[in-house]
Amino acid sequence: MSAGAAPTYLAFDIGGTKVASGFVTLPASANANAGADGRPEVTARCEIPTEAARGGEDLKNRIVAFAVRQLERAEAEGVAIAGVGLAAAGVPDSETGEIVSATDILPGWRGQRIYDAFAAVTDLPVHMIGDVGAHGLGEATYGAGRGRGVVLSIGVGTGIGGAIVVDGALFTGAHGVAGHAGHVPSALGRGFLCSCGTLEGHIEPVASGTGLKDLYNARCDAEEGEPVADGSQVAARAAAGEPLAVGVIEDSARALGECIGGMGNLIDPDVIVVSGSVVKAGPLWWNALRAGFEDSALQLVRSAPLVEGELGGAAPLIGAAVAVRRHVAQGRP
Ligand SMILES: [Zn+2]
Repeated sequence: MSAGAAPTYLAFDIGGTKVASGFVTLPASANANAGADGRPEVTARCEIPTEAARGGEDLKNRIVAFAVRQLERAEAEGVAIAGVGLAAAGVPDSETGEIVSATDILPGWRGQRIYDAFAAVTDLPVHMIGDVGAHGLGEATYGAGRGRGVVLSIGVGTGIGGAIVVDGALFTGAHGVAGHAGHVPSALGRGFLCSCGTLEGHIEPVASGTGLKDLYNARCDAEEGEPVADGSQVAARAAAGEPLAVGVIEDSARALGECIGGMGNLIDPDVIVVSGSVVKAGPLWWNALRAGFEDSALQLVRSAPLVEGELGGAAPLIGAAVAVRRHVAQGRP
């Protein structure tokens, strides 16, 4: 690769239901303000099912086999790959390549040594970060947070996650846990079981997509209405004007907005990017989110724009590529 050329990375996004991959070509200039030509390009996108029940060892082996196929494809198409970036579910150790924590969604994923497995099939530099962090890094570098110094990224989907990106670098904390935005206290969540195991009141079990469903069904039982199967049904009933659904969307989004205001007070971001399936719940959700944020955020923090993510499902792939590029630039193997 000649100096100044736009480098291409092989990226993976390892989630609970699928493993996505693509070739991510990042703009030659790391300056994200480069304009229209400063956007990454993702090609050769494909995916395999995670099939989590087959266990972590099996998953790791299938990811490596997937990588080999993608590298062969790159060679056949004349695409020079500069490195491999991985966005992984669970909590990965970026230094050692070991998955140090994972939920029951991926049995046996914890303890897998990913770098060792890749080293057996490629000499390319390989770098792994968490999938939620990768999403935030992608949005911060090339999406809705581009050009901003301090970016707080919040993902509201099946669960709730977050990432803090400072001057283009992911802030991961002492144990790689920083950014776990779903596990902040909220009175609305009291009595709802969080994915971390607490019943004491975290925001995730009442503000994620699953949480919208659970909050609705909990209130619905009391009024003997018809329960919903998922969060999008709550949004649909709210859009149709059903008072119970409207109340659930408003209470849930407001509580999440209050939590985001608290997070904003702690880190003072330039911008807050909110992504994930739940942000499609419509203006009712967004208005309540913003109202909660404004009630909770300090006056100067309130000026930080609260915006929707721009990169969609490509964000973790782009973030993984950004992470491996940074890793290589620092002269790491
Ligand atoms: Zn929790």
